[in-house]
Amino acid sequence: MKSQNLSLFESFPALGYKLPHVSLASLPTPVQKLNDIIEGSTNQVYIKRDDLSGEVYGGNKIRKLEFLLGDALKKNYKAVMTAGADGSNHCLATAIYAKKVGLKSISMLRSQLNARYARKNLLLSKYYNVEFHHYKNKHTWTWGIKFQRLLHGLKTGKMPYFIPIGGSSPLGGLGFVNAAFELKEQIDNGEIPEPDYLYVASGTLGTAAGLTIGLKALGLKTKVVSVRVNDVSRINMELMLRYLEDVQNILNSVDDTFPKISYSEDDVFFNHDFFGPRYGEFTPEGMAAVNLLDEKYGIRLDGTYTGKAFAALLHDLSHVHRDKIVLFWNTLNSRDFSDIISKIDYRTLPEPFHIYFESEVQPLDKA
Ligand SMILES: *Cc1c(COP(=O)(O)O)cnc(C)c1O
Repeated sequence: MKSQNLSLFESFPALGYKLPHVSLASLPTPVQKLNDIIEGSTNQVYIKRDDLSGEVYGGNKIRKLEFLLGDALKKNYKAVMTAGADGSNHCLATAIYAKKVGLKSISMLRSQLNARYARKNLLLSKYYNVEFHHYKNKHTWTWGIKFQRLLHGLKTGKMPYFIPIGGSSPLGGLGFVNAAFELKEQIDNGEIPEPDYLYVASGTLGTAAGLTIGLKALGLKTKVVSVRVNDVSRINMELMLRYLEDVQNILNSVDDTFPKISYSEDDVFFNHDFFGPRYGEFTPEGMAAVNLLDEKYGIRLDGTYTGKAFAALLHDLSHVHRDKIVLFWNTLNSRDFSDIISKIDYRTLPEPFHIYFESEVQPLDKA
């Protein structure tokens, strides 16, 4: 499959020759101005429409998968394995795009709170012929992953290519280094002024870290605000600084003309205030933000990730920022696949997933 010229590769051609990459996404994704999202505000608000990043399924994971699946193909793997919650957007995106490049896909899933998106994602994963494994808790899941990797290796003679949760390996983060270079082109074209702040939902750090590196390498002033939507054990300063360094090391080792940057706590901005009780639990603030963007612009966010991030942005527009340019990075898919899944009976899924269809969704997940 041909490698399209990413913005990053145009600036640093050696990265394009040497890094594994397969073209999957429709890039660049549009930027759009959100006028009057808060009446009388002195701030200007924009949205980066990564929800449109893929033809079948958009969102943020496809940018990471271009590098991860590129690596799997280059190394001659026949199967990829990844892990996440039962309704994981990342596992679904991996299933779809692995199939597209001819790789088998294995999803290692664990229980989560019920939500309509979990039902939909499971059905679409089924349509893409994923091999499913389900675990009830973190302990059995962690062991299950080790066990199934080995078992697959024994059965087929080669271990599956393993993609960590959220696709946030250092290689996956490169997708968002490129995304920052793409944004720079849009700034240069006059599509958006240089943002003061960029808000993004942060679940496994890859998106926020890649953007942080790309923006800093380009000398932009934009501060990336990582709105935490996962446990603090996954989203914290120590992990972020280590991850930034790992991605930076790849860039410098592959192309020594890439700016050499080191990172400190001053480069990293977390917002911990909109997480709510736990991962995947919708919050009143998050759902109010979802409804606002839907009513004013017809753009649908979700309760697990983007609603919480947008709620943080709305709060700061009213209480913190004045005369600022603020960009919201929409990491959620918005492609409609209800036609495909309407033909799939949930009873064809492995039995442990039936509960999602036979029990109520969480109270704030109303239609
Ligand atoms: C996975 C995901 C995120 C989190 O991105 P990370 O790179 O894992 O931090 C945010 N929003 C949506 C909709 C996602 O599916």
